[in-house]
Amino acid sequence: VAGPCDWDWAVDPALAGARELRPGLWRLRLPWAWEGVDHVNAYLLSDGVTRMVVDCGPAGHPTNDEAFDRALGEAGTSIEQVDHVVLTHAHSDHCGQLVRLKARAGPQVWLQPDTAHVDEMILEPERSSARRAHRARLEGAPDCELPWFGDVREEHDGIGQAVRGEHRLDEGDEICSPLGPLKVLHTPGHAPSQIALVQREQGFAIVGDTICARFSPYFDYGYSADPVGEALESLARLGELGDIALALPGHGRPLTNLPKVVRTHQRGMSVVSSRVRDAVAAQATGAYDVARRAFGTPPTPFTTFAYTNLAACALRHLRLNGEVVRDEDAEGRFRYRAAGCAP
Ligand SMILES: [Zn+2]
Repeated sequence: VAGPCDWDWAVDPALAGARELRPGLWRLRLPWAWEGVDHVNAYLLSDGVTRMVVDCGPAGHPTNDEAFDRALGEAGTSIEQVDHVVLTHAHSDHCGQLVRLKARAGPQVWLQPDTAHVDEMILEPERSSARRAHRARLEGAPDCELPWFGDVREEHDGIGQAVRGEHRLDEGDEICSPLGPLKVLHTPGHAPSQIALVQREQGFAIVGDTICARFSPYFDYGYSADPVGEALESLARLGELGDIALALPGHGRPLTNLPKVVRTHQRGMSVVSSRVRDAVAAQATGAYDVARRAFGTPPTPFTTFAYTNLAACALRHLRLNGEVVRDEDAEGRFRYRAAGCAP
């Protein structure tokens, strides 16, 4: 995730909770102080002897720690008892508690290693902030809004250390979990490090932020060739899982209709693409302005960032498809136009 945040990370720990979805499979619902996203899910897999958490919620304020401990407590365990941590992807709301888990429990940590999309903000915050602001300027953001675009506090404060683990996960790997083997699908798009974990025998899959009940796309821009194209491929792969009874997303309720939710996201992405295509056809302009034309006037600084980021990702995909061309004006700012239209 990325973008501006004008508040601190305090949450009400009383909003944290745990629910057992299947024997030994718990949803940990963790409150999060983020605009439009009030919680994130982690999952606990336990056979009473070995305890594995998949994702571990946000950090940045002591109340985040209290919330995590409270949810684990409701599931009958504690942070010291966690043996394994698997990350679905390296976003702050999914890996915030990792530093504390490492200090308190010394777990084995498993993750897909393409974590440059957050490492840079943690290891070189000034440089990555300047890079983000510069990119927003090229896309037509006004100077007064560049600090919003350059804000890296979410990653810097919310993760704390570069995200590292003992075990590198790649496509096709299997993790031995307390509830049986978890097969790893690399499903980039939302984040380069995004994976899904499939437990065939019990018919569940942990899908991270590739899908959730509500279509609300976000893609990390600038760390892979074509985030939208990658996300579309990842959606197709989740759709092919077919007979999975329970899909467990990073946000929102468990999904019992995976193919239908996947189709909703595919349709949603095609609406995003066609709106961006129409906006570009109406006027050659940068992603900042394309976003306003395609998705409406953003009501808040955060939505300004989110819309512009989404437009930039969609424009990148359309350029690679040969549908959109990017020119530069005299000051180097980008102008997108429909392929075939004169500049
Ligand atoms: Zn995420």
